[in-house]
Formats: sequence, C-alpha cells, structure tokens
Amino acid sequence: MTLSTPRTDAVRPGDAPTVTGADAARPLRVTLLAGGVGGARFTRGLRDLLRRRDVPAELTVVVNTGDDMWLDGLRVCPDLDTVMYTLSGVVHEEQGWGRREETTRVSAELHAYGLGWPWFTLGDLDIATHVARTELLRRGLPLSEVTARLAGRWEPGARLLPMSDQSVETHVELADGSGTVHFEEWWVRLRAGVPARRFVQVGVEDAVPAPGVLDAIAGADVVLLPPSNPVVSVGTILGVPGIRDALRATAAPVVGVAPIVGGAPVRGMADACLTTIGVETTALAVGEHYGARSADGLLDGWLVDTADADAVPALAAAGIEARALPLLMGDAVGEDGLTATEAIAAAALDLAGLGARVASAS
Ligand code: GDP
Ligand code: CA
Repeated sequence: MTLSTPRTDAVRPGDAPTVTGADAARPLRVTLLAGGVGGARFTRGLRDLLRRRDVPAELTVVVNTGDDMWLDGLRVCPDLDTVMYTLSGVVHEEQGWGRREETTRVSAELHAYGLGWPWFTLGDLDIATHVARTELLRRGLPLSEVTARLAGRWEPGARLLPMSDQSVETHVELADGSGTVHFEEWWVRLRAGVPARRFVQVGVEDAVPAPGVLDAIAGADVVLLPPSNPVVSVGTILGVPGIRDALRATAAPVVGVAPIVGGAPVRGMADACLTTIGVETTALAVGEHYGARSADGLLDGWLVDTADADAVPALAAAGIEARALPLLMGDAVGEDGLTATEAIAAAALDLAGLGARVASAS
C-alpha cells in the first residue's frame, strides 16, 4: 500500500458528501442491540428498507440472552429465537414469538409427566430449535457458534450474535419478600403483577461480550437501539462488562427509538421494569436514562412518537437530538411507499446523518 496514492474519489463541489468513493463501495454497517419482539420487528423493517433502496448493508444484531433458561433439559433463548424467526419470516406474527402454525402436543406431554412450567408452553417446531441448540452446546460449541449454525438454516439477512457466550440470567427479587424468580416466571406467570424490588443479572460479572460484539460496535457506521425493553433487554446487554464502554467509544453515531409511546409501553410491561429502576414511563425519561453521549451517556439521537413531541426540546437541552414521528411499527404501506416500521428505520438512519446514503434511488 502506498500512502501517497492520490485519492481518486475526491468529493467535488456539489456532490453529496457521503455517497461517493470508498464509502459507497462497501456495505453500510449497522449494529443493533435488541431484545425480542420490538427489536426483531424493528430490525426486519430496517433490513427491508435497505433492500427496497438497494443499499448493500451488513446488519449485526446483538441480542439479549438474559431471558435464557434451561427448561425440560433444553436451552431456551427466547430473544434470539424471536429475532431469528421474525427475520426469517416464520414467526407467529400475532403472538410475536414462536413459530407460525405450530401445535403444542409435545409441551402437553411434558406437562403430563409433571415437567416444565405449566404456565409456559413451547410450540412443537420451536422445541426442535431448542433440541438442536442443546445438542450443539453439548458438543461443546459456544452459543455464538450455535446461533450462527441455527440461523444458517434460514436467511435472516442479518448476523445474530448473543451478547455473551457465558450464561447471564436475569432474576427478579420480588418486592413482597416472597423470594426470587427467573425473569420469565415474573413476566409470564406473574405478568409483572408483583412489583420487582431488583433485577439481578446472575453471572454477569464473569461474562464477556461474545466474539464479534465489540468489533461490530466499534466498526459500525451507526449503532441503533431499537424499541426494546430498556431495562431487561437493552439494559441487560449494557450490563455485560465492556459493551457500554464500546458504545461510548465508537465513532459511529448511536440513535435509539423510544419503546414508550404516550406514557405507556406499546406492548408488554416495560413500565413495571422502569418503575423498579426508578425511571418514569415516558419517552423523555427513557432517553434521559440512556443519556447523552456528551454527558457520559450513550445517545446521539432519540426518536419519540408524535404523541411525545413536547419532549423534543427537553431532550435537546440534555444534549440528545430528538425527532418526533409516528412510532407504532406496522406493515401497512404509507404515502411514502414505506411501511410504518421502514419509515421509523429511515428516520433513525437520517437522524444518524446517513440520510443521503440510504436515500431512495428512484
Ligand atoms: P421482548 O423481549 O419481546 O419483551 O422485546 P423487546 O425488549 O425487544 O421489546 C419490548 C418493547 O418494545 C416494549 O417496551 C414495547 O413497548 C416496545 N414496542 C413493541 N412494539 C412497539 C412499536 O410498535 N413501537 C414502539 N415504539 N415500541 C414498541
Ligand atoms: Ca425478552
């Protein structure tokens, strides 16, 4: 390599600055930190937007594994599976998790033997994923390789990485003093109805980011926080030693999408999680909780719903550039020719300064 070789991709006056030369030749690198349903749907919209616009891209999704557990002898990774199924077009769309058109005969048999959790049903096709994962883990492969092997069957259009190869399980200390339960028991059996005193990430001190995670953050053109649970999805990922620092250090802009609309979660009980950590259930408070990069936080930009537009000046005052637009993800195509989810993804990239790079070619 000769350092003195003149650049032939020099930007001429009038050129859009970000679409010429080497930058345009290599794929856009987008890294996302995701939980289950919200993260999966957003990532699918982003992938579809970039395909629609013919933008070559490398998407990496760093997925929360704090909800993982052993059940009936199987390693179950709810968020990884939701992301994999959603991106692969086989998810049970209404439920948001599990496989479309599956039965629950195997779970029913296991329950009849007194195994498993009676309130937690796994579909039969989903169980095949857990059997395959467990077998590959038993052969000694780390979860990151197992995940790549499982995803290799599908064409998710994104690289899926567990946040860590080590087990980190979110446990919930119940506020009524009745004990500590696995996150899934609190979420699914108790419907977050018993307040949580504290979330404990069992094993997190000894966990390291899975191979590829830190590089994906450092080498990204943009890092996105999709509308995932800020406490038990994104918060858990950020708890893995090294990941928060990598986000603080990356040269890429970091832009998030508020999971709270009009003072309430769109689905699920994120309000109960936020209350436990002393954060109000508003788009403003969650943005401030992540904080501005200029003030020891993580965010350069934050999208809020139009219902929360009055938070934009306060976020700006806190050092976070915010924009308001409809944030309910959906598949109906609007006047701009994009689905609602794609439009949110486009706005996130635009806020990150990548608008010209992903602008419609037509
Ligand atoms: P989980 O692991 O399945 O709970 O999924 P995530 O952690 O990815 O996402 C849950 C969060 O996504 C919840 O706080 C929801 O409020 C949020 N969410 C779900 N659907 C939407 C949506 O259409 N728009 C927005 N803005 N947030 C959403
Ligand atoms: Ca989850």
